[in-house]
Formats: sequence, structure tokens, C-alpha cells
Amino acid sequence: MNIDLSKLTGFIDLSIPLRFNGPQPNAYGVPRASSSPCKAGELVGDTRQGGSCNFEQYTFIPHCNGTHTECVGHITNERISVLDCLKDAFMQALLVSVEAEDVGGDLVITGSALANVITPGAALAEGTPALQSALIVRTLPNDYGKLTAVYNSENIPAYFSTDAMEMIVAAGYKHLLVDLPSIDRLFDEGKLANHHIFWNVEQGSFAAGRESRINSTITELIYVPGNIADGEYLLNLQIAPFAADAAPSRPIIWPKSSDTGV
Ligand SMILES: [Zn+2]
Repeated sequence: MNIDLSKLTGFIDLSIPLRFNGPQPNAYGVPRASSSPCKAGELVGDTRQGGSCNFEQYTFIPHCNGTHTECVGHITNERISVLDCLKDAFMQALLVSVEAEDVGGDLVITGSALANVITPGAALAEGTPALQSALIVRTLPNDYGKLTAVYNSENIPAYFSTDAMEMIVAAGYKHLLVDLPSIDRLFDEGKLANHHIFWNVEQGSFAAGRESRINSTITELIYVPGNIADGEYLLNLQIAPFAADAAPSRPIIWPKSSDTGV
């Protein structure tokens, strides 16, 4: 890959802006992300309150308040950070759109729906980065409501079936990005079965093993604008440098074109 950086303009941002004092997405009914001016002695971090500059304290829950990237540390007793796990900055990505199916009243992304849009072994090609190391899944219908959607027991979003998740792993995708708050059912009795499949951690276990996909990440609560076509892109997955299992993130993509060399 030979990239002409001067032509790499017009990226597409897949993150949801986190508006601390405005509408924002929410999963599991947790408190809203919020901000308030810091007070340190005589100093106040708000120019409108007499401060010399603005400096605020932000309170939020990365997993529930917006776009975030997580690593295997999400399900292990050992504290493993996404900062340590994510080794890829740029990667080839495939964007697909899938419609969830009604399965017993739940919306489920099934293996058969995915089989229409991904190719077995597509991400296993030789080379650095692999031909397609990331899979970006846009669920249909897709609309701006996802930017501020409230997901809870009354509004359970779509999630992946077991065979769909196994298919993604078997195809070789190292990183998965979805516009859902979780790849598992929002309330699944804490099993997080798909997370275990994705990171190759034994079901029910809280320990990563030698075969676990320690350098793989899952990015949730992205938003893919409706005018962006399915297909191959260059992905730059940026995370805040949190030494934590998850961090707010900003995936940006560029269309593949012979013009840019992407
Ligand atoms: Zn999460």
C-alpha cells in the first residue's frame, strides 16, 4: 500500500459526538455523561462565572455513553487495557450493511444475513495489514436516531447470533465495529457469550488463555452515515489513551481509490 497523504482528505468520522450538555445515546439506563466547571480554591473553570478560562470535569461511562473501543479486559479478572491491546493504527476495513431478523421477538443479526456480505477467509490474506482486518457492521434500518438512542430493557437493540459471531472470527476479522451498544443481547444474564467468542475466551471464564485474541478489539456505538456506501475502506481507529478495558474512540475511514493509493 502506497498512500498519497496529500490526497487523503475528506475522511468519514464514524464516532458519535459526545455532547455532555445535550442529547446523547445511553445503554443500560446508566447516568448521563455530564460536565461541570472545576473549582480549585479561588479558581473556577468557567469564564462565564468569572474564571479566566474553561476547565471542566467530565463524568461518563465509556461503555454506555458513546462510541468506545474495548479489549479482552472487558471480560477478564486481570486488568488488561485497550491501550496495550490495540496495536493497529491503520487497517483495511470492510463496511457492510445488514438487516436484523425477528427471532422470537428479538432483533438478531444472523449468520445467514452475514453470509451474504462477508467472504470466508476474507481477512486472512497475507500482508500487513491483512487484506481486511476490520469489519464495520451497519445495521438496517439506519437513521439519525442512533445518535441519541436510549437502549434499555424496554428497547433492546439488535445483537449477533452465535453463528454470526463465529463466522466473523472464522473469516479472520481482527477488529469489529458496530453501531449497536453491544454485540451481545443487552440483558443476557451477564454471559456476554459473543464477546467470549470474539476474543476466544472460554464461555463462563474470566481469564484470557494462550489462544485468546488479545490484540482484537470491539468498537460499539458507532454511527455510519446513510450516504456512505458499503465496501472497502482504509480505517484509522483512534482511542483515547485510557489504561482501561475500554476507551472513547474515533474511527475514521477513507474510501478506497486508486487515486489515493488506499
Ligand atoms: Zn462496550
